[in-house]
Amino acid sequence: MTILIVGAGFSGAVIARELAEAGLSSTVIDSRPHIAGNCHTERCAETGVMLHRYGPHIFHTDDAEVWDYVTSRATFMPFRNQVKSTARGAVYSMPINLHTINQFFGQTLRPAEAQAFIASRAAPADVPATNFEDQALQMVGPEIYETFFKGYTEKQWGLSPRALPASILKRLPMRFTYDDNYFSHRFQGIPQQGYTDLVARLLDHPAILTRLNTPYDPSMAASADHIFWSGPLDGYFGFRLGRLGYRTLDFERFTDTGDHQGCAVMNYPDPDVPYTRITEHKHFAPWESHARTVCYREYARAAGPDDIPYYPIRLSAEQTLLADYEALARDAQNVTFVGRLGTYRYLDMDVTIREALNTARAFLVRRR
Ligand code: UDP
Repeated sequence: MTILIVGAGFSGAVIARELAEAGLSSTVIDSRPHIAGNCHTERCAETGVMLHRYGPHIFHTDDAEVWDYVTSRATFMPFRNQVKSTARGAVYSMPINLHTINQFFGQTLRPAEAQAFIASRAAPADVPATNFEDQALQMVGPEIYETFFKGYTEKQWGLSPRALPASILKRLPMRFTYDDNYFSHRFQGIPQQGYTDLVARLLDHPAILTRLNTPYDPSMAASADHIFWSGPLDGYFGFRLGRLGYRTLDFERFTDTGDHQGCAVMNYPDPDVPYTRITEHKHFAPWESHARTVCYREYARAAGPDDIPYYPIRLSAEQTLLADYEALARDAQNVTFVGRLGTYRYLDMDVTIREALNTARAFLVRRR
């Protein structure tokens, strides 16, 4: 059986590995010159800092099997993402927690007092919020929404928060304690040698052939019994119904000596600052030490046809087009669509791995 896996990110690598361990060979192709997709990490030749080339990736999950899967293949170092936000001339703690509330309102509230205080400002939650803005007004009230979320979200998505789904904000916790961990998951960390090393370990099996700089060509389908497609869903169909919208990111890289900002991620929600955040990559590897430092200013914009797709937009216009592509995907013979691009969803790494494991296992069961 000839199996072709398109894309050497987590989806493709996990599927290839699961099939290989069950005795099935596959070829993994990727159009880029490297593996690991947008999780790719590489050492900066100039500074020695491990760079998250397509933006920061912190592994966080509640899925014990996925955590075991990754930590049994690479050493993970403990990492807590303690994001800060520079807004209206001051630096605040993120995500919104008791410290942020006390800093922002100049108070010394204890947890129950802060909860009552925010509740007095927040919009009533008698009807469920259907968009980002209403969700934020119900959760934190207008002052925090306008300072920390409105400008950031407009820059990130290029749209009014009223046009965005409430689910985007629900990614973030809100706490009435001083816990400033950006994520609430049980297991969190970053691979000591980077994500590319982890993906290389997954692909390192005699039954897996990896070919880089190899874009998919429809003629390849003729010689494959099955294709696992982790490229863009609309790309598989030659964009014949139109293009699904994505946001892309531009990174403006700069270097400095020592420590530039004192943390890994500094958000800039003010609308007059053109970027959304600055990431300082050495802080994603606090177990290393480097004399110099590398930072990325991150700018979001609509993805054009030649840009790297990052965030699927999934508004009502996209939903209709997506449904049409999903119908084509259901009818496609011997192709399985996987991952963030293949299913056009905003997926974290752990969910991507979970779904890839499930996909590979279901495929193996069907073959029996
Ligand atoms: N967000 C915001 N202000 C912040 C951080 C996040 O308004 O300081 C909003 C923004 O709309 C973003 C969403 O919350 O798209 C989810 O944030 P998350 O940090 O999960 O985004 P990601 O890291 O996936 O880009």
